[in-house]
Amino acid sequence: MIHLKMTGQLYLCPPEQPLDKHTHARMTFCGVKSELRFRDVRKFGFWNCLRLSEIATRVETELGPEPLALDFSGFQSLLRKHGGKKIKGWLLDQKIIAGIGNIYSDEILFRSGIRPDRLAGDLNPEEVRKLYRAMKSVLKKAIELKGSSISDYVDSSGEKGQFQQRHLVYDREGSLCRRCRQGVIDRKKIAGRSSFFCPSCQK
Ligand SMILES: [Zn+2]
Repeated sequence: MIHLKMTGQLYLCPPEQPLDKHTHARMTFCGVKSELRFRDVRKFGFWNCLRLSEIATRVETELGPEPLALDFSGFQSLLRKHGGKKIKGWLLDQKIIAGIGNIYSDEILFRSGIRPDRLAGDLNPEEVRKLYRAMKSVLKKAIELKGSSISDYVDSSGEKGQFQQRHLVYDREGSLCRRCRQGVIDRKKIAGRSSFFCPSCQK
């Protein structure tokens, strides 16, 4: 089980390439020339070797469904089930839905027109539809553009992601909103994380 956390990088390279001091693990494959390396400057990431049965248990107990595989009725029922949580914390809770982090939760909520401090259970049907659509479209676009390189993130071929150029609110505190051109992007700590939103077009 691998988690990149803040600065982890997973990449393929020729086995003879010299190891740099931030490389913590490497894996070779039968019949494949390249090896897989795990590099992490700040060492928040991890690479755990587990038995298959342990992996199944951890996925089952620690992770909710994959957002891109989740159908609309499943999404609605998760909102009802955890309706007392703020929607920002709801999106970030890996036990509810797996894989959404701080950048993407802000971008999803902005595109849905929903303030991050609203309660998950208080969204009206139109907002629930918008949130579901935004979750899928933001994640699909981000995957297509190979993620957001805001510090040193690179993909497995060493390429920087390009989704940071599509960020509409994340890390834009004090800037004019790109959609309504009236609101100034605000930043508040919600669910323990910095949350960026437009007070004018997110209700
Ligand atoms: Zn706005």
